[in-house]
Amino acid sequence: MIELRTPGEIEAMRPAGAFVASVLERLRDEIAVGVNLLELDRIAHDMIRARGAESCYIDYHPSFGAMPFGKVLCTSVNDAVLHGLPFDYRIEDGDVVTVDFAASVDGWVSDSALTVIAGTPRPEDERLIATTEQALAAGIAAARPGGKLGDISAAIGDVCAAAGYSVNLDFGGHGVGHTMHGEPHVPNDGRAGRGLKLKPGLVIAIEPWLLETTDELFTDPDGWTLRSADGSRGAHSEHTVAITADGPLILTQRTR
Ligand code: MG
Repeated sequence: MIELRTPGEIEAMRPAGAFVASVLERLRDEIAVGVNLLELDRIAHDMIRARGAESCYIDYHPSFGAMPFGKVLCTSVNDAVLHGLPFDYRIEDGDVVTVDFAASVDGWVSDSALTVIAGTPRPEDERLIATTEQALAAGIAAARPGGKLGDISAAIGDVCAAAGYSVNLDFGGHGVGHTMHGEPHVPNDGRAGRGLKLKPGLVIAIEPWLLETTDELFTDPDGWTLRSADGSRGAHSEHTVAITADGPLILTQRTR
C-alpha cells in the first residue's frame, strides 16, 4: 500500500532526515586511508545512541539475508556496491567507499547514501561517482506533483545511459515511512509518463547506483554484500525525498 503523508507528518520526518544527514557528514569526514570499516560502524552506532535514534539495519533480516544484518551501517568498498557488511578491513589508498545509513527518529525513518574516494582518486572512479550524483539530482528534480513515477526512473536512467553505464533494475528506490522499505519500488530506469501518479505526501528514497563495466551482481560469502560480477567498482547516491505541493523536499539534505 502506498501511504501519503500530511504536511504535518512530513514536518515530523525532518528530524530523522537531519540526523541521517549528520551521520553521513561525520562519516565522510572520517573516511580515510587506514581507517577500519568497523570503526565507521562504531561511530555511526555511537551517534545513534547519543541521539536516541533506532537503527533500521541491525535487526534487518529479509528473505534474501542469510542472517540479521548485525551492524548499523552498510560499508561497500570497490567492487562491493550495495548492502556491504562492515568487516575488519582498513581502507587503502584509492579505495571507493560507499556508506549507506538508515535510522528512525521519533518513529520516522530516513535513508541516505554517498560514495567517496579515500586518498588518491582514479579518474574513472570520480566519473562513476559524479554520474550517480547527477542521476540522483535528475531523479529528485523529476519528483514533482503531477508527474509520474516513470519520470523519476527515466531521468535517472537517461543520465546513466548518456554516460555509457548500464542500469540494474533489481535494486532501486523505495517508499519510506515508519519502516525503511515500503511501496512504491522506484526503479533506476523506466519510461517517462508511465506508472504511479506523483502526489504531494509521497515520501521515497531515490538511489541510483552503478557499476563501471557491468550491471550484474553476486552475493559475497558473508551473505549480504553485493559485488560486481566482473570486479569493476561501484558507486551509490541516495536521498530520502518528500514530494510536496511546492516540489521535492530533500529530507536528508546535508548542510556541508
Ligand atoms: Mg539506503
